[in-house]
Amino acid sequence: MRRNVSLEEISDGRLFDDNDLVRADCRGCEGCSDCCRGMGKSILLDPYDVYRLTTGLGRPFADFLDREIELSVVDGYILPNLRMSGAGEACAFLDEQGRCSVHSLRPGICRIFPLGRFYENGAFRYFLQTKECGAVRSKIRVSRWIDTPMQKRYRAFVTDWHYLLNDVEERLRETEDDIFIKKLNMLLLQNFFLTPYDGERDFYEQYEERKEDFHAFTP
Ligand code: SF4
Ligand code: SF4
Repeated sequence: MRRNVSLEEISDGRLFDDNDLVRADCRGCEGCSDCCRGMGKSILLDPYDVYRLTTGLGRPFADFLDREIELSVVDGYILPNLRMSGAGEACAFLDEQGRCSVHSLRPGICRIFPLGRFYENGAFRYFLQTKECGAVRSKIRVSRWIDTPMQKRYRAFVTDWHYLLNDVEERLRETEDDIFIKKLNMLLLQNFFLTPYDGERDFYEQYEERKEDFHAFTP
């Protein structure tokens, strides 16, 4: 999701690479679950998030649409995001003790928080959202905080997905053809989210195959 704010408004302006130390470690959160509540539609899911959740919990993507995930229009296209619900506007994965019930499978945005991603010149670096998370935090290496294997491949995927969505957004902005808009959105959803992932196979290979299909069928 593109945010129309300057880096200076939400951070101290510093940018971090995977090997840099950043004051992001909230040391287990100690009973706080603030960033799992009231987040609106902002916790967007990417294909790797959906691969992790669907194969890790053994449930098809459509099954999550009843409770934990919803589809929303973002920058003109339709993407899944974590659903906040109930009086406390809480994520459905938050348990009664205020802990994440899918911690090892949690989405990328949850993993990096309170970091954000800043994209520039076909790549990205991280920034610390200084107005988020009031916990006393320690320094930690960015790669360790993100807690995701094969970080080079993960970084390449995150970048690729960001720019693929940028291209989709551009194409949608250029047209008023409702049939084309519907078709492109259905292709995006079907290829990257609704078609089941094989948990026995490498995610990144499956992503590349789906991307080829997406480009082949994009009108
Ligand atoms: S706001 Fe900070 S301390 Fe609270 S749950 Fe989120 S990361 Fe942890
Ligand atoms: S998936 Fe887990 S970490 Fe992410 S918002 Fe939900 S409860 Fe919090």
